[in-house]
Amino acid sequence: MARPTFDIVTVGGGLGGAALARAMAERGARVLVLERERRFADRVRGEALMPWGVAEARALGLESLLLATCAHPLPWLDIFVAGLQIVHRDMPASTAHAAPWLAFYHPAMQEAVLESAAGAGAEVRRGVRVSGVKPGPVVVLDDGDAIPARLMVGADGRSSLMRKWAGFPVRRDPERLLFSGVLLDGVPAPEDAAAILFSPGAGRIGLVIPQGGGRVRAYVGYHRDADPPRAPDLGRFLEESVRAGADPALWAAARPAGPLAMFEGADTWVDRPYRDGVALVGDAAAASDPTWGQGMSLTLRDVRTLRDRLVADDDWTAAGHAYAAEHDRYYGVVHRVDGWFSDVFMDVGPEADERRSRALPLIAADQTRLPDIQFGGPDLPADDAVRRRFFGED
Ligand SMILES: Cc1cc2nc3c(=O)[nH]c(=O)nc-3n(C[C@H](O)[C@H](O)[C@H](O)COP(=O)(O)OP(=O)(O)OC[C@H]3O[C@@H](n4cnc5c(N)ncnc54)[C@H](O)[C@@H]3O)c2cc1C
Repeated sequence: MARPTFDIVTVGGGLGGAALARAMAERGARVLVLERERRFADRVRGEALMPWGVAEARALGLESLLLATCAHPLPWLDIFVAGLQIVHRDMPASTAHAAPWLAFYHPAMQEAVLESAAGAGAEVRRGVRVSGVKPGPVVVLDDGDAIPARLMVGADGRSSLMRKWAGFPVRRDPERLLFSGVLLDGVPAPEDAAAILFSPGAGRIGLVIPQGGGRVRAYVGYHRDADPPRAPDLGRFLEESVRAGADPALWAAARPAGPLAMFEGADTWVDRPYRDGVALVGDAAAASDPTWGQGMSLTLRDVRTLRDRLVADDDWTAAGHAYAAEHDRYYGVVHRVDGWFSDVFMDVGPEADERRSRALPLIAADQTRLPDIQFGGPDLPADDAVRRRFFGED
């Protein structure tokens, strides 16, 4: 049989597809990226890359690209609980990877990473919609064109059809949280700190992520049983942000700079995201609850893990399975710990209040009881002893 023109085809040229294309093109692979958007737009996605994700970006050679093109470093983390500041943390000085958060406008980040994939030698086709995948593997485009490759990468995001076409069973958590966000201009927030606002008991969380120049990405998350808004509404969003603990002065002159959108928080994922020549990366493999801001870090971890396996092993079937097994481990850690944070900070009702009455005073006295996985990454311990310390059970 003739050798396919491409070693790798990525379906999707967002962060996952573009970063993988760049990483493998740099290693000499012949890569094609198929991206349906001609120009990326604000879909209300991740704009705060956690310190452990910055370390993943560094390992992929992307940190300097992000800093040169779109990223605004946030060295500080401020945490407020019920309006009271309990943490002002120097992230580079206190995380294993010595990294800040990076904030950026998601479409600008996507353009920069995809352009750099092309610069590394990947072929990028935009305005192209994939409509199926057949055994081979072969992707089929809307116009009927069929393109074979040695490895097909499903990087088509949280509503991935690649995982369905390739026959991956999709798993889903029960519905629990909702998460909304909007880009705002004219906000006098400190420009060097990400703020997390917990409002335990009210089933609310707020985040304020400055991007520089008075622009912030603001998010508000809700428990489904805590009277969330039924439809996106900016006035209500700002009120809810204040209810979560934001200073009302932040929003006095705020102007929207993009759409307001709300999303279901429940994780969707596949176990073992490799089969029959198709690997899934990023949200297609596991769309984690956006409340906890792990998605882009996980996506970059997927890219690094898959790249390293493909480079190390000429047998790409074995490499794909090895990637999938590793993915199950580190995504499993993030998934478990995110669930603990939802239990402690987001659940509502008497049982959750009881849980908090035990956990929160102990955390206030000793913040090392808070698991640091969300900032430091899934290689930190996350076993039952960590859970019991967090929940104040020992
Ligand atoms: C409200 C919200 C807030 C978030 N906040 C954070 C945060 O603060 N920090 C964080 O780390 N993460 C956050 N995330 C998660 C983060 O946005 C995602 O994890 C990340 O964008 C995933 O990247 P991806 O490349 O896998 O998918 P995507 O960015 O969705 O890219 C998929 C690409 O595939 C293309 N595509 C889809 N189907 C086809 C097709 N059939 N043919 C061709 N192209 C196709 C799409 O056009 C798109 O460009 C948030 C998510 C949401 C929803």
